[in-house]
Amino acid sequence: MAESQTPIDPREHQTALRQLSLMRDQRSNLDKQLKVAAQRNDKLVQALETARGDILRLKQAISQDLEAPMNQAQVLRVNRPVRSGASLTGDARAVAETQASLDVAMGGRTVRVPVSPVLDIDDVRVGMTVLLTETMGACAAIGYRPTGEIATVREFLDEDRLVLGTGSNTQTVALRSGRLEGSALRVGDAVSFDSVSGVALDVVPKTEAEELVLEEIPTTSYADVGGLGTQIEQIRDAVELPFLHPELYREHELSAPKGILLYGPPGNGKTLIAKAVAKSLADRVEETAGASRNLRGYFLNIKGPELLDKFVGETERQIRAIFSRAREKASAGNPVVIFFDEMESLFRTRGAGKSSDVETTIVPQLLAEIDGVESLNNVIVIGATNREDMIDPAVLRPGRLDVKVRIDRPDRAGTAQIFGLYVREDLPLDAGVLAEHDGDRAAAVRAMIEAVVEEIFRRDDERRYLDAVLADGRRIPTYWNDFLSGALIRNIVDRAKKLAIKTYLQEGVKGISGEHLVRSARDEFDQQRDAASRADVEDWLKYLGFSVALSSLERPLTGEDGPEGLSLDPRAKDGAGS
Ligand code: ADP
Repeated sequence: MAESQTPIDPREHQTALRQLSLMRDQRSNLDKQLKVAAQRNDKLVQALETARGDILRLKQAISQDLEAPMNQAQVLRVNRPVRSGASLTGDARAVAETQASLDVAMGGRTVRVPVSPVLDIDDVRVGMTVLLTETMGACAAIGYRPTGEIATVREFLDEDRLVLGTGSNTQTVALRSGRLEGSALRVGDAVSFDSVSGVALDVVPKTEAEELVLEEIPTTSYADVGGLGTQIEQIRDAVELPFLHPELYREHELSAPKGILLYGPPGNGKTLIAKAVAKSLADRVEETAGASRNLRGYFLNIKGPELLDKFVGETERQIRAIFSRAREKASAGNPVVIFFDEMESLFRTRGAGKSSDVETTIVPQLLAEIDGVESLNNVIVIGATNREDMIDPAVLRPGRLDVKVRIDRPDRAGTAQIFGLYVREDLPLDAGVLAEHDGDRAAAVRAMIEAVVEEIFRRDDERRYLDAVLADGRRIPTYWNDFLSGALIRNIVDRAKKLAIKTYLQEGVKGISGEHLVRSARDEFDQQRDAASRADVEDWLKYLGFSVALSSLERPLTGEDGPEGLSLDPRAKDGAGS
């Protein structure tokens, strides 16, 4: 069936024709654009090809360079590219730009080498090792040498340089490596040092030994030490007079002691006194210098045996570090006390012990350091020991630790004084005791202390402690007070305070009583008995004038078969125990 022809509207025909010609135009435009794009594309491909060729050639060149055996050198200076002449313009400026270079130490020579484009100059620091190509271009930085000599920082010259102590008496100026830039380096620190290039490479991490050296600003004063009045006076005369009046000493041709040796059984205040010396000196200096100078006493506490045990062969370095730390503090005018606890471990008599290390290297090193203290009048060495017989006599010669003071176990009066330091009137006191003394707290405390002191100093069976059996068979009884110490008194008081708290919580009765103190004393001595050391007893026997060796320590035989004890304690008022 034929479709009926619809006549075309001439106007529509016109419009369609116009659109057709428009589309033709657009198409020819697009064709043109496509042609241009294709041309551009060709150019790009060409450029890429060229670049690829360049890159390949470069890669080849570099890899050839890097394959060759390369020299290593150490960077002494990084010369960044600098533009000279701000007045220059355009191309002239580029010409005036100097190339990045490095000054390096290589085989004992110093050479300036260019920096290869493959190495970013910003990654290079002084002290780093760089690889040099055959053509001597620095092409890679491979970090810092992990090895080196150990040296001690003595002084800071400027941002880039420091003075290092490299031997007992040699010093050298060294460059600071990039590793040490901005690090909190201090005088006395140990660094690894490359003696060929003269660069201080890295901080040698603080050893545990250095951490054994506790540095503090003591707050203990002489008033905190109980019962050692005479000894303290002796120490103050020996230490403070020459310290405060060096001119008088010079005038009278007397040299100030560099130190003192405190000896006697442990726990009786040697450390306390040494701290008090540091604080007192600082106080006195501040008084004389005026409040404007903020001076402090420093206390360097060195534990001899730990220093030796943990760091065989390292001790000398530690000792050097300790003394230079002291020098650093002292140079600002601060008095410094270097305290050697258990000094006999470090200053052992030469030729007596097994440890050749101590005898051959440590003792001479310490002596040299002590002798060197001379130039600084505000460093004082205080040694503490309970075996002064083991200390090398060279240490005790005039001009070294020539003041020897025995710090003994407390006597009755001393014991009462030490108790007085810890049982204070302002503590909660037992109502019964207070009532007995009409509310006079001071009197109540005194009475309680008297009671416990009386108890401790009685020498009867109940207080018999250990028997010292001598090599010749003699049996010498010991009593509580033969083992008394300041530390033990403190323990007794702490125990009594805990008892008082317990009593309060259980019975509602508050306050420390004489009974608490006496009970605590008994418990404390009981507990300490097993820990009593031979050394304590040997010291005690020696003190009493026994020359026969100790064979064993035994608990006293109780009952009728107990031997007749003989007490030789000169301090005991009530004589031999029955
Ligand atoms: P040492 O150095 O003689 O072994 P310390 O001075 O370290 O003994 O004493 C240990 C602790 O015992 C001190 O911190 C203190 O609490 C107490 N102490 C010892 N002796 C006394 C004393 N004479 N006066 C007051 N407290 C003392």
